[in-house]
Amino acid sequence: MKFCIVGAGFSGAVTARHLAERGHHITLIDERSHLGGNCHTARDPQTGIMLHHYGPHIFHTAHDHVWRYVQRFGHFAPYINRVKAISRGRVYTLPITLLTINQFFNKALHPTEAREFIRQQAARHITSPRNFEEQALHMVGPALYDAFFKGYTTKQWGMAPSSLPASILKRLPVRFNYDDNYFSHPHQGIPVEGYTALIETILTHPRITVHLNTAFETFPHRDSMDHTFYTGPLDRYFQFCHGRLGYRTLDFERIDAEGDYQGTAVMNYCDEDVPYTRISEHKHFAPWEASHFTKTVCFREYSRLAGPKDTPYYPIRLATETAMLSQYIRTAMVTENVSFLGRLGTYRYLDMDTTIAEALDACRIMDDYIAQQKPL
Ligand code: FAD
Ligand code: UDP
Repeated sequence: MKFCIVGAGFSGAVTARHLAERGHHITLIDERSHLGGNCHTARDPQTGIMLHHYGPHIFHTAHDHVWRYVQRFGHFAPYINRVKAISRGRVYTLPITLLTINQFFNKALHPTEAREFIRQQAARHITSPRNFEEQALHMVGPALYDAFFKGYTTKQWGMAPSSLPASILKRLPVRFNYDDNYFSHPHQGIPVEGYTALIETILTHPRITVHLNTAFETFPHRDSMDHTFYTGPLDRYFQFCHGRLGYRTLDFERIDAEGDYQGTAVMNYCDEDVPYTRISEHKHFAPWEASHFTKTVCFREYSRLAGPKDTPYYPIRLATETAMLSQYIRTAMVTENVSFLGRLGTYRYLDMDTTIAEALDACRIMDDYIAQQKPL
């Protein structure tokens, strides 16, 4: 069969590779000038440092099959994401750990004491939190909420935490020990040659043809394909017929410096009066080579509502969007010969590993469908 795949991020690349290995012919297009989607990395021409162009990406997963899958295409160096956070002029570790609690409250509590101490701080009248703010007050109480979550979340999402779903905060653990690993998954690492090289290897197959700088809307062969896997924005595929799904976008402000700028990869700025959310220093995402560079490159990250021409980053998914999303899903379900995949195609915040797992699942469904069509 002939497949068109729209998007050269993980969703598109994994789908292309699987179908090519099953003997199908794949035309993969992306309107950008590079592979990798939002995981794109490239060496900075001025310093040689590997830059994550659309924000820092750390690969982490609990899916053994996804971890095995990515190892086929590139070498991952072990990497533990240890985030620091500045609140009211002092530096802490994040997520909230025993160290954060002891430093913040100027104590030396043991795990059981800290658990009891936080239980007393936490808002006990909230039994089932209905929004982000209630979730935070329920988990850690008002002092830690004010210091670490209120300002950062208001900047990140452009609205009061009480208007946001509780699920956003559930991604962050609270630990009563000194484990400062931001993620709790058993596998974590960063591809030594970067994500774009990894995705290029996934796409290196004799039955895959890639066209960059090619938008689906103007792709001349789109109607001659047997099936399309579309990983671009769902609303854009249907020419925004039900309206525009809301996204947050990011602006990155580059800082060039000598030596070591902040001594770590990610520093969050939790106070609302600092306009950016975090600063990432990219050579620290590659500790195996960081000392080779005398210069350093960092990016301040500013979050704002995406306009029609901006890169979509975070789906907002408030009540208005979920109602509109249901309309798009209904339209997608009655559209023949196209499947919607990935972060933009399904309008969900997906980590890279989930993106890969879902692309592999979609391919298996396609394998079964094709097997049913063919007489044995
Ligand atoms: P994308 O990577 O967005 O790829 C879609 C591609 O489709 C794009 O290249 C786009 O140009 C192309 N396209 C769209 N429409 C069209 C069209 N009409 N015609 C042609 N081409 C089109 N995940 C993690 O696991 N760990 C992290 O640390 C992490 N950090 C993140 C940090 C930030 C700031 C953000 C926003 C996300 C982060 N993620 C992280 C999530 C990660 O970026 C996504 O899981 C991943 O990019 C999803 O891949 P995708 O292929 O679905 O989409
Ligand atoms: N968050 C916060 N303070 C921080 C870090 C995160 O309030 O210092 C909140 C914020 O609302 C964010 C959410 O927790 O959207 C989830 O954090 P995560 O690090 O998963 O955000 P992402 O990877 O999406 O940037």
